Amino acid sequence: MKREPVKVKESEAKERINSFAEVVEGYTEQEALIEAQRCLQCKNPACISGCPVGIDIKKFIFQITQKDYADAYFTIRQKNNFPSICGRICPAEYQCRKACVLTKKDSPFASEQAILIHYLERFVGDYGIRHNLKISIESAGRLNRHKVAVVGSGPAGLCCAGELARRGVKVEVFEGLHKTGGVLRYGIPPFRLPRDILDVEIDYLKNLGVGIVSNFIVGNMKSLHELQKEGYSSIFLGLGAGTPSFLGVTGENLCNIYSANEFLTRVNLMSAYQFPESHTPVNIGKRIIVVGGGNTAMDAARCALRLQKMNGTPCDTTVVYRRTEIEMPARRLEIEHAKEEGVRFKFLVQPEGFQGDERGFVTKMQCLQCALGEPDSSGRRRPVPLKGSDFELDCDVAIIAIGLKANQVLTRVTPQLVVDSHGDITVNPLTMETSIKGIFAGGDIVGGEGTVIEAMGMAKKASEAIIQSLVA
Ligand code: FAD
Ligand code: SF4
Repeated sequence: MKREPVKVKESEAKERINSFAEVVEGYTEQEALIEAQRCLQCKNPACISGCPVGIDIKKFIFQITQKDYADAYFTIRQKNNFPSICGRICPAEYQCRKACVLTKKDSPFASEQAILIHYLERFVGDYGIRHNLKISIESAGRLNRHKVAVVGSGPAGLCCAGELARRGVKVEVFEGLHKTGGVLRYGIPPFRLPRDILDVEIDYLKNLGVGIVSNFIVGNMKSLHELQKEGYSSIFLGLGAGTPSFLGVTGENLCNIYSANEFLTRVNLMSAYQFPESHTPVNIGKRIIVVGGGNTAMDAARCALRLQKMNGTPCDTTVVYRRTEIEMPARRLEIEHAKEEGVRFKFLVQPEGFQGDERGFVTKMQCLQCALGEPDSSGRRRPVPLKGSDFELDCDVAIIAIGLKANQVLTRVTPQLVVDSHGDITVNPLTMETSIKGIFAGGDIVGGEGTVIEAMGMAKKASEAIIQSLVA
């Protein structure tokens, strides 16, 4: 008998916009069991090929059906250090779920019938946290003579640090910000990733002996060469893609036009939603426009709308995107959640400039209507602006969320480090070693903006190569 997917419980849209509390509740044991039993246990499990780190999905789902939750946890942990995080934020509809045999062929993302693998992963990850399950530490042997520096505490840095520490290597993580987590902390809002989940994972690393030095910008306060002279045998760079892109149109420097990075950092890292208890405010307008179609745009829009609601301002937040909904790179779930919460969408609209008032504050965005043309290099149909279709949208806050580029603070002062035309670090794809011997890199600083699981996959590969170099 064909069973319907088990829907996960979510808080009501009109309630959830009053706070930054988590929206998706996650499966109960009973729900996880029923969803796991839908899995066909395929002879050739296509889902595994869709997972960037190759989790044995078929096996961990089977272990759930047997109520072997601890075993399921260790199956996932063999490949993925942070199942509770990935179970919440992985774009499964483009990865494992899209590859699941229950997805219709040629579908641009997972069909509804595909097994809800990420919710099962989250269930198992949360079980592991609740039951304090720990990965065993391998005997240190000769490795504890070595110390390794990790620069950046995003998912790439944290994953690399965890893998090395678990093998007995002494690890020190250097982070430029005052808090650890990278985008997981300053970009992704708590209503998608509660901070206690992140804190548990970071505490776990500290318990493994990983040292964390925050407020320390490598390249500014110490060079890579100085770190090497201090005795770090290897260095891993997980610098991320923290530099925002802008539209390059007139009026973009008017007041109340934010990059999504600044806006989200103010809200999520500096807790602007708790102002004045927190010290960092953010300007919330009556009409907010968010430009872009990715996860960053969805996060910015959903934060902005919540801030309007919590401020008692009528909710008026609009996402403006050059293509149509189908081409939006954001997770489908975030698009649905944004719509449910009251975020409006204007598709096929290209920003052309901004106008402001006599005080220099933005008042309008000038736009052109577009049509879809031929596919571009990304495979998505190109937006073609239509002549004479100019129009204006009123706004008193605009948030630009059109992509992020390499963080170049360190690479600019390290000319020996070879970078490509985008400023991303060039590595040997087999080892993740950079042009400088003993220095490795991974995550968004290699190959540009990606996903959390991809960043962790690269970090894991680098950690293996670092171990090999230490034992050689
Ligand atoms: P980052 O997370 O950017 O971390 C890099 C860290 O390095 C930062 O903390 C930075 O301060 C530090 N650093 C940089 N230079 C230095 C230096 N010189 N010295 C010391 N420290 C330094 N992916 C998903 O899979 N699912 C999602 O739902 C999702 N949503 C997203 C939402 C937003 C708003 C954004 C911006 C991204 C999202 N992503 C999502 C992408 C994902 O977060 C990134 O791919 C991932 O965080 C990359 O990890 P990273 O460790 O390479 O870099
Ligand atoms: Fe189960 Fe889908 Fe993987 Fe088959 S492809 S084993 S049905 S999750």
